[in-house]
Amino acid sequence: MEKPSRKLDYPVIVLFVIFTLVTVVGVPMFGVKVGFTSLDWIMFGVLYMTSGLGITVGYHRLISHRSFECPAWVRACFLVAGGWALENSALRWCGDHIRHHARCDEEDDPYNAMKGFWHSHCGWIFHVSPYREEKYEITLRKDPLIMWQHRYYIPIVLSGLALPFGVGLLHGGWMGGLSCFLLAGVCRVFFVLNSTFCINSICHLWGAQPHGDGDSSRDSWWVSLVTFGEGYHNYHHTFLRDYRNGPRWYNFDPSKWLIFSLSKLGLAYNLQRIRS
Ligand SMILES: [Zn+2]
Ligand SMILES: [Zn+2]
Repeated sequence: MEKPSRKLDYPVIVLFVIFTLVTVVGVPMFGVKVGFTSLDWIMFGVLYMTSGLGITVGYHRLISHRSFECPAWVRACFLVAGGWALENSALRWCGDHIRHHARCDEEDDPYNAMKGFWHSHCGWIFHVSPYREEKYEITLRKDPLIMWQHRYYIPIVLSGLALPFGVGLLHGGWMGGLSCFLLAGVCRVFFVLNSTFCINSICHLWGAQPHGDGDSSRDSWWVSLVTFGEGYHNYHHTFLRDYRNGPRWYNFDPSKWLIFSLSKLGLAYNLQRIRS
């Protein structure tokens, strides 16, 4: 059968190159010549956690897998926080992710690990997906909040970059705005992107398979340290709807702790536990 064409996605490539160059070259140079303030580092930490948890708790466990429910305003907060990670709108991200689970390790798995580390890590985003079938988005498209976030995705992304600039500007003028933007805006997006990429690459190539070997998913506990608990990927592939990825109390899974804490505050309910 003829393979579908794989057209390059130039806007994504240009954006990725800019964020990578600024992080790898611009940020260290700025750090040496000018230096970053403690406010820049605090904003980096706060926005890394906010946008990272927006992806893991919001895009992944709440929207893609419906592993818990929450009030509309909490969903909206997660959709904005997830949008700040610059990983596409929830409609696209979750559609791709649902397809990843449905067609894991096959040709139309968007981040098919059978094609090697770089393809599953970030190479897959450089091509216009020939497999983006709307059938994986049917349920998502019925959700007005998801469609609202899809429509306003670009302003949401820009607000996530403008926020550190504004905070830095108020604290230290134009240079303060620039330094906070570089560290807590661009550099932070680069690190959150790569932490998500590690789940698709490392957690499908290296690690244990204690829950099943039906696909290439693996538990790599150390990946959880930078991905808010998503490293227990073999458990996740086996028990998809569980709100926990690391089910044991000692598993480092901050996403699970946040969902559990929200449930104690009455802001999350119907938490799914597939295995006690
Ligand atoms: Zn998943
Ligand atoms: Zn996976």
